Formats: sequence, structure tokens, C-alpha cells
Amino acid sequence: MIRVVIHGAAGRMGQRLVALTSENDKLQLVGAVERSAHEQLGTDVGLLAGVGTLGVALTDTLPTDADVVIDFAAGGVTQKTIASCVASNTSLVIGTTSLTDEDHAAIDEAGKSIAILQAPNMSLGVNLLFALAAQVAKQLGDDYDIEIVESHHRFKVDAPSGTALGIAQAICNATGKDINEDVVHGRQGDEVARKRGEIGMHALRLGDQIGRHTVSFGTLGEELQLTHLATSRDVFVHGALKAAQWLADKPHGRYGMPDVLGLNA
Ligand code: NAD
Repeated sequence: MIRVVIHGAAGRMGQRLVALTSENDKLQLVGAVERSAHEQLGTDVGLLAGVGTLGVALTDTLPTDADVVIDFAAGGVTQKTIASCVASNTSLVIGTTSLTDEDHAAIDEAGKSIAILQAPNMSLGVNLLFALAAQVAKQLGDDYDIEIVESHHRFKVDAPSGTALGIAQAICNATGKDINEDVVHGRQGDEVARKRGEIGMHALRLGDQIGRHTVSFGTLGEELQLTHLATSRDVFVHGALKAAQWLADKPHGRYGMPDVLGLNA
């Protein structure tokens, strides 16, 4: 059995990770961690996740005896989580988004000593969308305008989504564009006419939308759209658990979902 800790265990993703880990016969839940001020510390996480008692209490400290930590904690604590996993030589799956350049540098560094996987989206469909968007952008070139629109639930705190940035990054990698220079976030004002080659990025926040991403390629006379719609949060949870299982016996290094899903082959 692979011993798993869920970080951010009382969150929307955390609760489903707890529930589906408890149903997985290859994974054993050995820890569930939250911020130190969380009002449910000490409560059995199975009760929080709606699956009955699991014998694992919500705590504010990462255990050091796990095989893999799965991190979906918000709050800008990614570097602290990485440092803790490096110190205990524990593999780490990072699903948390809105990572900084410093967070990415810390992931690169950690990959020199532990197996670490980071992905802004754990679904097979979205990882295929990354590859397809890159291929289409390269094929069509700058005669086609590119606009990315993402839609999420009203509670999401970061924008644009990590997935929308993932689409933009994949397109930039394929076309030689720079995500910091060539992506325009929203438009307002009198002097915002589209420039050739720019990538537009727009975020909608609506009700309980789990996640919709559309990348559009438009020119004079036609438009091509690629859309991914998540209809259940569990698609990300299944991906994260698959990643944890895959990572558990890997040597140190930085990995992504294409490695798990065999999309690099
Ligand atoms: P959420 O707000 O419901 O849950 C986040 C949890 O993190 C909360 O319970 C919060 O108390 C906890 N937290 C905050 N500070 C903490 C700390 N210092 N230590 C431990 N826990 C702490 O959010 P969510 O919808 O579950 O999403 C969580 C993250 O996962 C977001 O960044 C989201 O964008 C990302 N996400 C990624 C994927 C993917 O496939 N990679 C899919 C969905 C969501």
C-alpha cells in the first residue's frame, strides 16, 4: 500500500481526495492536513468528507512517514510544503495553482532530491487540450487570433486559472511567444485594439461552474474552437491519485501529467 497524505484536506478538492483515497485499494490515507487555524482540526476527516470514520484526524502538521503527499492547499504555502517533503524524503504531487516563479524554482530544486510532480490540471482531457492547442497554434500561425476564455465557480480566488495559463504556456512553447509579453489579460479602454500575435485571456466567475476552458483561433472567414468542460471535480481527483501511484516508485526528478498519461511518448 502507498501511504498518502492529503494537504488542504478540508477544501473542495481535499474532501474528494480523502473520499476517493479511502476507496482505493492501492492507497492508504495516513494523514490529512489543514491550516493551523482551521476550526475542524482534530475531527476525523472521513466524517468531513462524508464517507464515515476513517481513523485519521485533521491535523496542522505534515506527517513525515508518508510515501506521497498530495497538495491542494491554498494559502501560498507551496514552498513550505516542498521544504517539508524534501526534509522527510517524501514524494510530492502538487495540484495547487497560482504558483509563483519562486514556487517553480523551488520545485525544480526539489526535483534534485525527491520525486515531485506539478500539474495545473490533472485531467486527461485537459492535458490533451494543451497538446492540441499547441499543435493548432503552430499550424495556423499569427494570421489566426488566439483568445482563451475560462469559467469557474464564484468561490475561486485566483485568476486566470492555472489551466488557462497552461494552455497559454503550451501555445507559447510551440510558437516561440512569451507568456509574460504576449498574453493580454482582459480588455478595457479606447486603445486596446488587438495586436497581431497576441493571446487574449479572459476569466468568468459563475455560480458552481467546475471548470470550462475554450481556446478560439479566429481569422477573416473562420473560427476554430477547442473546449474542455469538467462536469465533476472527481476527474481531477482521479488524476491526482493516478499521479500519486505513478510517482511513488519514481526516482528523484520533476515530472508532469504528460509523464503519467504517456503523452510524451
Ligand atoms: P478550497 O479553497 O476549497 O481548498 C483549499 C484548502 O486549503 C482550504 O481548506 C484551506 O483551508 C486550505 N489551506 C489554506 N492554507 C493552508 C495551509 N497553510 N496549510 C494547509 N491547508 C491550507 O480550494 P479548492 O477548490 O479545493 O482548490 C484548491 C487548489 O487546487 C486551488 O489552487 C485550485 O486552483 C487547485 N485545483 C487544481 C486542480 C488540478 O487539477 N491541478 C483542480 C482543481 C483545483
